[in-house]
Amino acid sequence: MERPHVVMLSAPGQGHINPMLKLADILHSKGFFITFVTTDHTHQKVLASQGPDALQGFVGFRFEIIPDGVSLPSSGSQEHVVKWCLVTYENCVAPFKDLLMRLNNSTGVPKITCVVYNWLMTFALHVAEELRIPAFVFMTMSACGFIGSLYLDDLIQRGYTPLKDESQLTNGYLDTPVDFLPGLKDIRLRDLPSFIRTVDADGLIFKFGKVASEKCLEAKGLILNTFDLLETDVLNVLNSMFQKVYTIGPLLSHIVTGPTKSLCLNLWKEEDHGYMEWLDQQRPSSVIYVNFGSLITITTEELIEFAWGLANSNHPFLWVIRPDLVEGHCDILPKGFIDKTKDRSYLLSWCAQEEVISHNSIGGFLTHCGWNSTLESVNSGVPMICWPRFDDQCTNARYICKQWGTGIEIDEDVQREQVTGKLKELMEGDKGKEMRKNVIHWKQRAKSATIQGGSSYENIVRLTMDITRIFS
Ligand code: UDP
Repeated sequence: MERPHVVMLSAPGQGHINPMLKLADILHSKGFFITFVTTDHTHQKVLASQGPDALQGFVGFRFEIIPDGVSLPSSGSQEHVVKWCLVTYENCVAPFKDLLMRLNNSTGVPKITCVVYNWLMTFALHVAEELRIPAFVFMTMSACGFIGSLYLDDLIQRGYTPLKDESQLTNGYLDTPVDFLPGLKDIRLRDLPSFIRTVDADGLIFKFGKVASEKCLEAKGLILNTFDLLETDVLNVLNSMFQKVYTIGPLLSHIVTGPTKSLCLNLWKEEDHGYMEWLDQQRPSSVIYVNFGSLITITTEELIEFAWGLANSNHPFLWVIRPDLVEGHCDILPKGFIDKTKDRSYLLSWCAQEEVISHNSIGGFLTHCGWNSTLESVNSGVPMICWPRFDDQCTNARYICKQWGTGIEIDEDVQREQVTGKLKELMEGDKGKEMRKNVIHWKQRAKSATIQGGSSYENIVRLTMDITRIFS
């Protein structure tokens, strides 16, 4: 039987794949035919970590891979990640176009109803426009982070960016309040997406940030993994700029019933499976969970400061150190650290984060504030210690600390004493109790948004109706 066919194009990176898969799962459960497209780089990583059967068993899903010609590693600095996106961009246009044409001419595959593409893959919109296929853009970052990028021209006109010289990175200039951006509250220059911290107006990051965000305005609709109450003011502004806005998050909170096996495409292998048993042995809310996501890298010096900061806090901790987390892969933990902490620590290279963070022994999350990690923390009612590095992580951290009251921040120049102090504040102090109360409140609101009658639930209904209307 013919049914709406949604082609979903994910960007490479775990933080993009996870929410896109969740949306795919939801649309599939509504009866849509789904083609989930990833690039070759992602595909190779999934096969390497999960084996050749990784894509088997997803009933009703078609997986397609387009070549991207990427040989760069996927983690690193912001500049590196942007270069990586650009290479993908250059190499994927023709294969994506070929794929859409092939799908539309395949027997047994319904005609494509629309494309849902990750906002970083702007080329998908060009291709869809050319083939006259409606396209919706899916935003994997927060609305508050996104809006900062959309107002880049204002920041340039008022002289906030590009920076006059490199000294402005360290002389306190980044603490300048920015009070004219619609919807954003209590924001400093350092809290805006970090690509504006540049002296080079012609630089890659600057140009890419501008093009990628502005192009979104041309899509048929903007899909956001957030919920109305969490970012009300910013969402009001986005609603006035876009044809249609669908706030459908947190995607992980939706209950999906359908014939698929649990959708999960991990780019890293879980080498160790003992950590859930270890968590089972810990007291409720006693463990600090440390994980800086799938992309960022840190220096050996920063690793050492975190290590001693954790060791001196005297709290148990579970710390995920990705194989490529430390620049140059010199993840040598300081001498004496293991001896000092072995009775109350668990170190590993990758974990099932959603499971870990929702374990009742987790009392706090030391995070880089990636948007998925932020939502997963909110969804599990876990307060955060924020150490943002780039992109929307900076805005997310500000909102976590100032607007939602669910976290505290560590300085960019990380020092062990501060790490210990903030960990104690979170785990033992009154501020920690307050943050815990606040995050539980947000957890309840997130849940309410995703059950029948809630804003995100109803927006999914609206999105599916709009796609069905295109189909019929
Ligand atoms: N993640 C995971 N295990 C890990 C580290 C990360 O499952 O050990 C998942 C995490 O749950 C989240 C995603 O990877 O869904 C990371 O996305 P996020 O936006 O937090 O950060 P990014 O990796 O994009 O910087």
